[in-house]
Amino acid sequence: MRTYEQDLLDARTFIEKHDDFLVVAHVQPDGDAVSSTLAVGWLLSRLGKTFTLINEGPIPQRMTYMHGAGTIVDMSLTERTRTYGSVICVDCADFKRVGLVSEWMEEGANMLNIDHHPTNDRYGTQNLIKADAAATAEILYDLVALFDLGWDRNIAEMLYTGILTDTGGFRYSSTSPKVMQIASHLLELGVNGPDLADSLLEQLTKPQFDVLTLALGTLQMSENGQVAWVHVTPEHMIQAGAANEDLEGIVNYPRNIQGVEVGVLFKVIDENAVKASMRSAGKVDVAAVAAEFGGGGHVRAAGCRLEGTLEEVTKLVIERIKQSL
Ligand code: 5GP
Ligand code: MN
Repeated sequence: MRTYEQDLLDARTFIEKHDDFLVVAHVQPDGDAVSSTLAVGWLLSRLGKTFTLINEGPIPQRMTYMHGAGTIVDMSLTERTRTYGSVICVDCADFKRVGLVSEWMEEGANMLNIDHHPTNDRYGTQNLIKADAAATAEILYDLVALFDLGWDRNIAEMLYTGILTDTGGFRYSSTSPKVMQIASHLLELGVNGPDLADSLLEQLTKPQFDVLTLALGTLQMSENGQVAWVHVTPEHMIQAGAANEDLEGIVNYPRNIQGVEVGVLFKVIDENAVKASMRSAGKVDVAAVAAEFGGGGHVRAAGCRLEGTLEEVTKLVIERIKQSL
């Protein structure tokens, strides 16, 4: 049985052995995805390696304070002129999560897969997976430490951001003693914890507030009160002037109702596709539910994309959740 320590050493070897990397996180990147992309960039530049940081789409506005955020290529705005033979994927549970960025990779590229999702299917040629890590940023903290390059405030801010957002502000069960030790070190390096908590977890833009209001108005609950769900339609998005990133956190509201075991947000993508975001209070493994529908995630936070109308998908997913209760 391989250990995490061995996998860390092999990841270091992978990085030392290769050069000219493409670094990518999952589509519609969250705090951990952006942080992890930038943290790998920080590491590679310290090592004198060349690399391109990329994402299928834009980086959320509220994360652009991080050092180097402007260097992440928005693939949707960029014409491809070449492909890459060395790839580092971060925070992607399966290869599909990189989205269209796969077009930038050579067939049979060397690929380092760094992730903390228990549903990760080890698609890399080298895999560094720690399923009980609170964030991919936690794994990158260990990797940076292994290179022994020293620390600065920039890398500290990146790693803190990933851990802060993926633990919901150090509240989820993934917030281990080790996470707090790492956070303590990052604060010592000059990270402004309260400012980041305020801008990333508390503040809402007006479109975010408006789309939240519209979503909350759609609340439905199962008869026994254990499943609660809301939805957002393209019309809601237009009415609120909201972007995808503005939906972050909405799913917590139905989950937070007392007695609710699973909360779901259904986001209508088009007439025939719906994204389901699920959050569990602990009894139901929503990663297992999502995996059945081709998605994945964590025991308490998972997602998937289904074909069908809102009504069809809602019925299917809610019935499946009820079964697991
Ligand atoms: P969210 O509901 O916030 O989009 O995602 C919750 C968790 O589920 C995250 O850890 C995310 O990476 C994972 N997740 C969301 N959608 C998908 C998906 O379509 N496929 C997979 N494999 N994981 C997903
Ligand atoms: Mn993550």
